[in-house]
Amino acid sequence: MQLKNPTLYGLSEDQRTLRFAVAVCPTCDQLNFPADLYGCLNCGASGDLLQRRWLAGDGVLRNFVTVHKALRPNQGAPAVVAEIELTGGLMVDAIVDAIETPLRTGMRMQAVPVQEKHGDTTLLACHFIVQETHP
Ligand SMILES: [Zn+2]
Repeated sequence: MQLKNPTLYGLSEDQRTLRFAVAVCPTCDQLNFPADLYGCLNCGASGDLLQRRWLAGDGVLRNFVTVHKALRPNQGAPAVVAEIELTGGLMVDAIVDAIETPLRTGMRMQAVPVQEKHGDTTLLACHFIVQETHP
């Protein structure tokens, strides 16, 4: 199945979680995301110098809001839109599938592939879920 935004994320080796495509700047260590750009967002180093890497799709919930009306087609409502700080240090905005779960900032989150219908095509979109805790 195809990814909805293959330039932003990819399937992890276990196929059940997602990881993010970033471009690391060798000059200033800036994590650039999205990775398909002409140069470093911080120091302007040329895009050819940036090192493409995968950043694990796990992190911490920093902020969230429940929207009761769909902001985009295929999103569905109500939905939780969240700001998640990945363990690797990148902030991402994403949909959290947790309508039934009481969310708290600081919770561990995991990016997972979710099937979304776009006309006749089903694409894998990036959503986050509350990470299971392993005591
Ligand atoms: Zn840089």
